[in-house]
Amino acid sequence: MSKFLSTRFNALSPYVPGEIPASELLKLNTNESPFPPAPAVLDAITREKASKLNLYSDPDLRDLTRAIANRMGVQPDQVIPGNGSDDILLYCFEAFCDKEVGVCFPDISYGFYPVFAQFLGIDAKPVPLKEDFSIAPEDYFAQGRTIFIANPNAPTGLALSTAQIEQILLQNKDNVVVIDEAYVDFGAQSCVRLVDKYDNLVVVQTMSKSRSLAGARLGYAVASAELIADLQKMRFSSNPYNVNRLSSLAGAAAMSDQSQAYYETCIEHICQTRAYVTDALRERGFTVLDSSANFVFARPNRIAGPIFFEKMKARGIYLRRFNTPRIADYLRITIGSCEQMERFIAAVDQLWEELS
Ligand code: PMP
Repeated sequence: MSKFLSTRFNALSPYVPGEIPASELLKLNTNESPFPPAPAVLDAITREKASKLNLYSDPDLRDLTRAIANRMGVQPDQVIPGNGSDDILLYCFEAFCDKEVGVCFPDISYGFYPVFAQFLGIDAKPVPLKEDFSIAPEDYFAQGRTIFIANPNAPTGLALSTAQIEQILLQNKDNVVVIDEAYVDFGAQSCVRLVDKYDNLVVVQTMSKSRSLAGARLGYAVASAELIADLQKMRFSSNPYNVNRLSSLAGAAAMSDQSQAYYETCIEHICQTRAYVTDALRERGFTVLDSSANFVFARPNRIAGPIFFEKMKARGIYLRRFNTPRIADYLRITIGSCEQMERFIAAVDQLWEELS
């Protein structure tokens, strides 16, 4: 830290992304898709399009916005694209969280929520998950704060139904409720269809997971035109060119009808592989939560979580672990391709053999 850093950031602890191993063997720690983007996405990024990189991207992101709106079944003024959904989540913290009023979110959830709150000096109230790691909707009734809920939640993979989220929306009519649907395509119900019904709902999605575009950095929010206008105010007050030309093209192609069947097949593969991994780990003595996401949250039981983490790392398999006491023995394991997950399970068998 230099002597010039603003004192308000002295105590800030930034988000720590999953490690990127130097020689990548099996990376199951950041919930990326094991599949490449759809063919139409690859076709969209031509040499001719790349030759236009001397020009700024469209600040209104018209083509991308229209493509997302069509896919989501809403109007273009109900959509704002961003540089990953982290970009959009930050806009939500900026736009809808007064410092005094504050924000609340589950105590075990996406690690960026407390970081954003701290970064912006917003009072944050963690709401404990239930003993079984599920979210109790009633814990969010009349909080008098802006609410952020990941659905499915991360790192647990557990999902609320839209009916449960509607209860939360109805009990917080004077506060914005942000539903972060980063993993929704892998088995949860989306709240997008509720945006015309609730003027306090913001739904945030990403193309990093089910659309195989983590490296393109593309996310978006869907909400009422009024809420989107508020988020646009944040965008045009910070970085109006937040989505670059090539990512805009990739994103529009990823949301097109042409790409839909491809992505549905990828999602189906992930869900089938998730069922295989869940069963295989349970057979080997793990506790595994029922996941609606492209990862599973699992506790080895036979050895401590951090030791399992290190043993897998020594075999070139990278998982995600957490330092929070309640989940210190759990690992978040990304669902890769079937072959990758068979390798992971074989590594578990090898380790269990060594231990016996
Ligand atoms: N929300 C949740 C719950 C996540 O796990 C992630 C991925 N780290 C994000 C949002 C952000 O994803 P991205 O910025 O890649 O869209």
